[in-house]
Amino acid sequence: MTVAYPHSTTPPTSLRTTGQTGIWTALPPLPLIGIGTAQVESLDHYLVRLANLVGITHDRMLEICNVAAGQILFSPHGTSSPFLGNEAELEARVAVTERLTGQNDLLRHGTPWACSAVMSVHAFSSAARVRRWCPVCYLQWDPNRSAEPLAWSIEIKKVCSLHGCELVDRCQSCGKAQPPRTRYPARRACRFCRTPLGWHAEPVSAHLTPLDRWVESQVDQVIELCSDPAQEKLPADRFHLFLEAFSAMHGDRADLPPALRAVVSLWSYQPSAKISLGKLVNLAGMHGCSVLDILLDPVRTAQREPFFGFWQGFDYLPLTPRNRLRGSIRLQMALRNLLRRLAVCHVPSLALVAQHAGCEPSEISQVAGDVLAAYREARARHRRKHESVALEQAIPSALEALDALGLVQVKRGQLCRIVPELAAANGLDTFNAWRVAETALILRRAKRARDASQAVLPDAARDTAWLR
Ligand SMILES: [Zn+2]
Ligand SMILES: [Zn+2]
Repeated sequence: MTVAYPHSTTPPTSLRTTGQTGIWTALPPLPLIGIGTAQVESLDHYLVRLANLVGITHDRMLEICNVAAGQILFSPHGTSSPFLGNEAELEARVAVTERLTGQNDLLRHGTPWACSAVMSVHAFSSAARVRRWCPVCYLQWDPNRSAEPLAWSIEIKKVCSLHGCELVDRCQSCGKAQPPRTRYPARRACRFCRTPLGWHAEPVSAHLTPLDRWVESQVDQVIELCSDPAQEKLPADRFHLFLEAFSAMHGDRADLPPALRAVVSLWSYQPSAKISLGKLVNLAGMHGCSVLDILLDPVRTAQREPFFGFWQGFDYLPLTPRNRLRGSIRLQMALRNLLRRLAVCHVPSLALVAQHAGCEPSEISQVAGDVLAAYREARARHRRKHESVALEQAIPSALEALDALGLVQVKRGQLCRIVPELAAANGLDTFNAWRVAETALILRRAKRARDASQAVLPDAARDTAWLR
């Protein structure tokens, strides 16, 4: 069954410019809401809205699409979004919905189509999908202007950009998840207990860390790019061009932190691998650029100096799950670095290291027991053997001397520039001055990691499983 509907009085420009002569479309030429903005309607919601307009069920709508396509593109009982699948399926599904509605080249902008050759769109959202929504958007629903945005189906996005409140996926009253394909008029009440799914929710945006806000803005920027009707599909090589240029810059990669090295290797043995949005956000965070920088200008972005610099002796980047062990992980890293350089450095008090790593005294107990024990033992041995007090007292002047070099990153080879003066000013022999300089370097790096994590870096990034 296909019913012809009169074309709207303002036909989509694409119909005119492409010279198509059709003035009838099989389905109404309903415009996608919010096109060109980060609030663009998802194509899933578009189909729900369209089915309601035509007065048919969602299943019937999918059937019409399948018949028009001559194959089963839309599974009638599927629960995950048909538009967050693989690239070829996405192309075919977008093509048939655009053709049936005459919205040529437009409906694709309600999906991650523009990025689908670069990113795995699966990773936009979890495969077993439940509906997520903003309670205030549902509460203030305006049938003429409101739509469920694509942003709601992106997992790493946590907050509604319009209202600043947290996106939810459960009924407040009975706690049940809501099916994604509920018909349009019934969507804003719980499918099970009928309680409205819109309510007054407090904005949480004021409590977000700078990092959280940065992640939100990265996602918004990617959606805005996808929603731009002038945006063509990004070529598949974006991410790989970035990695290629990045590898060329950093030779054998030995200097890179292991997490970055893992991403670079991914490319070398799996050149067709796509990256997930979460990984891309993490990569941008480590590199100190935006996701769009990588997508739109990969080579020049890769050639920039990474924000994190090259961390010698780094076990892993301080990326931890939210709210966990941030300071203590930085302390653990610094202690490990000191233990590794034990033969050539001074072993300062635990409190001093903790202070530089930004680890509260109460958090010290969260450092791995074996690392703490090894450090305490090394410190005790060290104090028996060396003139510990004089060395400890020389640390502040060593840190000052490092800062005075005026370099963002000080490499170990540059320590020779501060050693003679350090020895003279503190009455140390050259060997002990080297020890102090070495220790100051490690403390300075710990402090930089602390400063970086308080700025925009993903030490609390959510998608960190891939790093391990
Ligand atoms: Zn909202
Ligand atoms: Zn309920």
